[in-house]
Amino acid sequence: MAGDVDHCPSVQEGLNYLVASHKTTPVMVRGKGIEVEDEEGRKYFDLDGGPGVLATGHCHPKVVGAIQKQAETMMQAPGRFHSRLAMGLAKRISELTNGKQRRVFFVNSGAEANDGAVKLAMKFATVSGKRGYGILALEHGFHGRLSLPLALTGLPGLKRGFGPYASFPGVVHVTPPYFYRCRFGSRTLEECGARAVQAVRDAIRFRAPGEFAMMIAEPIIGNSGVIVPPDNYWPQVAEICLENKILLIADEVFVGMGRTGRAFAHQHWGISPSIVTFAKAIGGGLPLGGFIATDEVAKAFESNDHNTTFGSNNQVGLAAGHAVLDVIEEEKLIERAAGAGDRMLENFRRLQAQFPYIGDVRGKGLVIGLEVVRDREGKEPAANLAKVVQDNLLKCGVIIGVGGVFGNVLRMSPALTISDAEIDHVMELFRRGLAMSG
Ligand code: PMP
Repeated sequence: MAGDVDHCPSVQEGLNYLVASHKTTPVMVRGKGIEVEDEEGRKYFDLDGGPGVLATGHCHPKVVGAIQKQAETMMQAPGRFHSRLAMGLAKRISELTNGKQRRVFFVNSGAEANDGAVKLAMKFATVSGKRGYGILALEHGFHGRLSLPLALTGLPGLKRGFGPYASFPGVVHVTPPYFYRCRFGSRTLEECGARAVQAVRDAIRFRAPGEFAMMIAEPIIGNSGVIVPPDNYWPQVAEICLENKILLIADEVFVGMGRTGRAFAHQHWGISPSIVTFAKAIGGGLPLGGFIATDEVAKAFESNDHNTTFGSNNQVGLAAGHAVLDVIEEEKLIERAAGAGDRMLENFRRLQAQFPYIGDVRGKGLVIGLEVVRDREGKEPAANLAKVVQDNLLKCGVIIGVGGVFGNVLRMSPALTISDAEIDHVMELFRRGLAMSG
């Protein structure tokens, strides 16, 4: 059985060899499409999907085939030489931005993508004569757990105990438009958006360390509870950034590559960031990420300003990236994400009517959040109940994530390949899991 192959007879023993593992049982051993199977042979619908990694599902035959073929051809290109796979994938990603962003730097993960994007924006600030290196970011935003990305992350709980590792000079966090729990006390979506826009203006006026060189943000805040901003937010923030020569970096590590029903989520609002970061879905399950910048900004990096051993040399990851984009195109997964997302949201709204502890249902395409509360009026976050629901759903054969600023949001980011029949089936299982919970 899998245990023998892995030299680990029991989970109890295996845990002695891992640093601070937060994983749980059962032990998953294989996956296909939307399903995964544990070592006892039980199957589950994986609505977490990585999270956000498995745009093309578990082990899509085209992705697997591309990986196998490339593994037999060349795994790592000698670093000094051009790679057709890298150049070709960069061109295809640029096409997904309609050419608005042009040049790509490939890395291994989301945190590295954000780290590199900020480094590039710093260099651009230097060459363009900015009088400051300040960084605007959003409270509740998540940008990774390496030192700089953790400093950009607007979740204090993740920084506790790490001293200067989790801070970086000049980072200022502003309040995002989180309408369900609007910190500005707004009554309407539009007002919430306008107040959050004003918060950006105020930060630039009153809190800039010298000048802000850049703003980094998730267009839709994913990990911290799928916070979809009102439509008036991003167009105005992008305008403010432009007026103040602040480079906008869109962190699309979670919501990019078609997940929200557009190639990149920022495209819902017609804005054009200077840099867009991506990871997760592009590798189809292999570690691959990157950032794509406008031609002008990208040229701030001179040769050898930035490098990484894998990145554009990791031929297997890049081959997987091509296969992922092939599948997204051939199976029209961007359109599918929009349609499947609407179907799921509609179903969840129906469930919300039956279960008063579901306070809010929100999402765009196939990134969906359900906020679990003590009661609808008070909206008090119910993190413990969210965990109970997660456990009960597992018993019913459904895997979801739990996230959010208060740890009370049921979070889903399934494969974009999910069919209507699978959605209908999983919704029935979901109803059962909710009914068991409260
Ligand atoms: N940015 C966002 C928006 C993310 O959701 C994540 C991962 N959840 C990261 C960055 C970090 O990516 P990684 O775990 O690959 O470093």
